[in-house]
Amino acid sequence: MPGRQWDAASKAKVVLEGLKGGSESAICRRHRIKPAEYRRWRKQFLSNIARPLEPRRPPSEDKGHFLAEMPRKVREESAKALRVAQELIEALPIPVFFKARDGRHLGANRAWEAYFGVERDSFVGKTVDELFSSAPEVAARHKAADEELWRNPGTRSYELEVPVHDGSFRHTLNYKATFAGADGKVAGLIGAIIDITDRKRVEQRQAIEHRVARVLSESDSVASAMPEVLAAFCETLGWACGARWRLDTQAGGFRCEETWRSVDSADIAEFLAVSRKSTYQPGQAGFIRRVLGTGEPAWIVDVTAEKSFLRGKEAAKAGLRSAFALPIRLGDQVLGALEFFHVEEQQADEWLLKMGAAIGAQVGHFMARVQAEQDLRLSESRFRSLTGLSSDWYWEQDEEFRLTFMSSRFVERTGIDPAPFIGRRRWEQPAPNLSESDWARHKGQLERHEPFFDFEMERVTPEGVSVWLSLSGEPVFEDRKFRGYRGVGSDITDRKRAQVVLRAAYEELTRSNAELQQFAYVASHDLQEPLRMIGSYTQLLERRYGDKLDADAREFMGFIVEGATRMKQLIEDLLAYSRVGTRGKDLRPVPAQGALDRALVNLRAAIESSGAQITCDSLPEVSADDTQVTQLFQNLIGNAIKFRKKDEPPRVHIGVQDAGEEWRFSVSDNGIGIEPQYFERIFMVFQRLHTRDEYPGTGIGLAICKKVVDRHHGRIWVESAYGKGSTFIFTFHKIQKGET
Ligand code: ADP
Repeated sequence: MPGRQWDAASKAKVVLEGLKGGSESAICRRHRIKPAEYRRWRKQFLSNIARPLEPRRPPSEDKGHFLAEMPRKVREESAKALRVAQELIEALPIPVFFKARDGRHLGANRAWEAYFGVERDSFVGKTVDELFSSAPEVAARHKAADEELWRNPGTRSYELEVPVHDGSFRHTLNYKATFAGADGKVAGLIGAIIDITDRKRVEQRQAIEHRVARVLSESDSVASAMPEVLAAFCETLGWACGARWRLDTQAGGFRCEETWRSVDSADIAEFLAVSRKSTYQPGQAGFIRRVLGTGEPAWIVDVTAEKSFLRGKEAAKAGLRSAFALPIRLGDQVLGALEFFHVEEQQADEWLLKMGAAIGAQVGHFMARVQAEQDLRLSESRFRSLTGLSSDWYWEQDEEFRLTFMSSRFVERTGIDPAPFIGRRRWEQPAPNLSESDWARHKGQLERHEPFFDFEMERVTPEGVSVWLSLSGEPVFEDRKFRGYRGVGSDITDRKRAQVVLRAAYEELTRSNAELQQFAYVASHDLQEPLRMIGSYTQLLERRYGDKLDADAREFMGFIVEGATRMKQLIEDLLAYSRVGTRGKDLRPVPAQGALDRALVNLRAAIESSGAQITCDSLPEVSADDTQVTQLFQNLIGNAIKFRKKDEPPRVHIGVQDAGEEWRFSVSDNGIGIEPQYFERIFMVFQRLHTRDEYPGTGIGLAICKKVVDRHHGRIWVESAYGKGSTFIFTFHKIQKGET
């Protein structure tokens, strides 16, 4: 492609683009020119405007001026060229200035005036020392560069950070070229200042971003990444040190986690150590707290003069001046903050804060990622511990219910090789305990994606040993799509065997119990008949042959009659006892008060003859066999009257207490009392503490009470002190709602 023809004005325009801060490579690309060509144009341009100039007064008036010594024609030509150049310079958007050989300013353009905020007329004759009086090191750098030029005339360029009109520092590229006087000697220099701050910042930003991005992508822990991130900031931007703060929402405070310093200073190290040691509560005032609280960056020009900066004393000792802090954010959530310190005063820099916010968000994402990875690792290790320690095994199956995974515990527990099961469905292998319909039910559950629990399955090993498994599983969904099942299994062979033994024992027990009941019933029932016969024939014998018998024989007959009567009583009691189990009615809600009233009617004779005083609470409804409850009250109240003190009429109270899920009934008396060692024995069949002469009875009353209470799933016991009366207590479950 034929190259474009460039005239001087177009070339100047292109060069100006670069002088205004445009990137050289971008300009070359845009205009399709080679960088070398561009540089040649720039040199030409700068040396053209650096032609000997007289900035303020018309040269003709100056006797000593180089123009004054020229022939008139040449002088006029030159003056014209000079005016053009001057106008051009004046219109240039970049600061341009002139200096004499002695370093005094000869003049400058409007852009220079605006850049430094100095009125150019008043500055003529002054030196760079006065321009940068607040930054002597900047003046010194310029003077050194000038010295170099005086020694080796020509052009020279260098970068320098200089303070400008608003006190902020800007990055400048300084082009300087000497010009000669009429005598051919160096008369002064012309300088052009190109502000490269924006370009510099782009470079710095890129450098920081690249470094941070690299660190964050390579690190797997926040602790190892953060010093590098802090270093990227400090080293690129010239800040002395930095730290990361973490917000601990659980502990309710925040803490400095990592620090970094680019300056080798014991005082700064000490300052950072103080930061690391402290834990701050959110309520306290402070720099970091403000950032964490607002989620916005903050800047302090002088930390030693700022009251809200809590570490001011230590910072002053470390020689730190300015500070800025940025939030580490994840969306709306503030996870922590980064803070940085400079040894010189720095004005708040919007650019820096904006860039910092972007980095803060990057760090936030990184922290969230690391946290997620940590959580994952933790849950994996928990899973490993769980499967390693549990005696159960873990399994997975796919959408088609084919087994895809079986943990090693399976073979360890059952001795069955899982390989033949992998890739197959549960029902494709025989399980002797399950019928076709059992399998169909199970399949239906899986097809409906329902969880299942304790699905019992019998497998037979190749050696013919039967192994019982219990499986529980739940469906797995990803993005609402069914992915299969996962679950656990356990070997329940032992439990199954124990169950078989237990069932056999239970069946045996019920059978023998029933036999015993039957035996007691039959025995007592069938014994009654021959006994009655003994009784009546003995009486007949006595009546008919009584006068033929002697006194001894009559006495013996009396013993037989008495024995038979007692035996009859015993058999009747035994029969009553066995009937509690065999003849009981179904339990249904009945008023306990009714049962008590009937018992009192039955006891009327005993109550009247003993002069007993009976009191009672109002009794609730209970779920019971009312005949048996009547008997229960009757036996207990009967005993309370029977075992009374000789010299005191009996007083009996029937009470009831609400004990949560049950009623607690009590029958208390003021009788003879019971010694504690007999508290259990008295509830056994035929166990009594007295002779029949003292207190009549067979010792079966309380045994019947116990059997009745047992049948109602309650408990019965006695509380007593010998000679001080007794209280018999028994419980009944409350009627559940809906029980009829
Ligand atoms: P029996 O009343 O026929 O002797 P029980 O089984 O009813 O048989 O009572 C067993 C024993 O418990 C009684 O012999 C008596 O010693 C003791 N006993 C029962 N109730 C009371 C009571 N209210 N006061 C003192 N002793 C009692």
